[in-house]
Amino acid sequence: VDAQSTVSLDGQFARELPELATPWQAEPAPDPRLLVLNEPLAAQLGFDPASLRNAEGLGLLIGTALPDGATPVAQGYAGHQFGSYSPRLGDGRALLLGEIADAQGRLRDLHLKGSGRTPFARRGDGLATLGPMLREYLISEAMHALDIPTTRSLAVVATGRQVRRETMLPGAVLTRVASSHLRVGSFQYARAMDNQDLLRRLADHAIARHHPGAAQAQNPYLALFEAVLAAQASLLARWMLVGFIHGVMNTDNMTISGEGIDYGPCAFMDVFDPATVYSSIDEGGRYAYGNQPLVAQWNLARLAEALLPLFHEDQEQAVALAQESLGAFHSKYSAEWLAGMKTKLGLAANLDDDVATALTDELVSLLQEGRVDYTSFFGSLGRAARGDVEPASLMFANPAGFEAWVQRWRALDPDAELMDRSNPVYIPRNHLVEEALAAAVDGDLEPFSKLLAAVGAPFEERPGFERYAAAAPEDFGPYRTFC
Ligand code: AMP
Ligand code: MG
Ligand code: MG
Repeated sequence: VDAQSTVSLDGQFARELPELATPWQAEPAPDPRLLVLNEPLAAQLGFDPASLRNAEGLGLLIGTALPDGATPVAQGYAGHQFGSYSPRLGDGRALLLGEIADAQGRLRDLHLKGSGRTPFARRGDGLATLGPMLREYLISEAMHALDIPTTRSLAVVATGRQVRRETMLPGAVLTRVASSHLRVGSFQYARAMDNQDLLRRLADHAIARHHPGAAQAQNPYLALFEAVLAAQASLLARWMLVGFIHGVMNTDNMTISGEGIDYGPCAFMDVFDPATVYSSIDEGGRYAYGNQPLVAQWNLARLAEALLPLFHEDQEQAVALAQESLGAFHSKYSAEWLAGMKTKLGLAANLDDDVATALTDELVSLLQEGRVDYTSFFGSLGRAARGDVEPASLMFANPAGFEAWVQRWRALDPDAELMDRSNPVYIPRNHLVEEALAAAVDGDLEPFSKLLAAVGAPFEERPGFERYAAAAPEDFGPYRTFC
């Protein structure tokens, strides 16, 4: 059977929101080669994974051989990039192929990145290179395995085309799966068109697809906003708890679904420090680790501005409603973060919040002062919960403060098994990601596959994966990502 005949691609977005959808075709690839295929995800989408490995299947994965009736589109969106507004970004090198109902009946976008120039390309070449597409594959699958809402990656196909960057690099297409590609920037774009019917259709589409409960609310559009805010507060708490730094939290890279998206110059923090920035393009540190919750709230304020005409006929009242809803972000975020910290520390969910807050505040200061590897620390703390405090103590040059803290913490009777389930052993560590991507660009996919296997089961410590659990070697030096 060929892949095209087993799955049907709907064009719901293109049909309901034609103003935001420019019909477009993927560019053919001179010599497509499948490098990675996510077989479990393929099966969940209804594909026979083997059918995606032949020439027809490859054509589907890069958008050049689609089922009859498919209507691939480039999506329009605007966005604030590093705080400044661009009215027209859109899919410059991406395409939405359409939607597929998965095994649970949920609608999933099938989307390409690196599929050629579109009318939104501006000065870009429309292409993507292998390293960054493999990085997105790896990070999104690691996120999924950590049970953090995220877009998924179905495949990376090398195109056989060389792409000009600082040097010539191998080109690739990422086939991405998401609950949708609606972004804060989609609403900014619709709002800027000054077409209230379009804005309402977009909001109705978002409610139906992501936040159906909002339809029953007294003010459905305000309820939509509050649902997005709640989803993003939760996502940000989850990112912060695992030490994730997105790197480019522009409003065009923030979803309405609450899934993480567009993993470019992102990284997991090594040594704990809220000021950590790894992205070479984030010169001002706007998207530093510790700023991320505030940035999310700032982005949500831009979403509220776009939705104002739908909140209330009277714009003053609309602003008051938006401000009140936006004000809930901090408490929602903090509550999720504290609940997550309790589980990381093996503490009971019903432990008094003031006690937990005092304990976590002090721990955060100790980690920052001690410049301790964030992920390894929680692993060692699991041993401390079982009575072996020394490995964790040794992570601090001056362990006195930590040792006093540990006594207070152990008096609360931490649950070591809960800690094992909550603290990943394997994350995509920067030195391992760099090593895997460099090897892949040189034609060796083995390190990538092994790292993917490690981060694909992050809580299960396994023999043979010791180096994947270890902190970066001293000589790795300060890390920068370029994407
Ligand atoms: P990103 O930084 O990937 O979120 O992209 C920001 C904007 O730049 C989006 O509108 C992208 O479609 C566009 N873009 C990024 N790289 C390229 C490229 N190589 N060619 C065309 N457009 C691009
Ligand atoms: Mg983007
Ligand atoms: Mg990008």
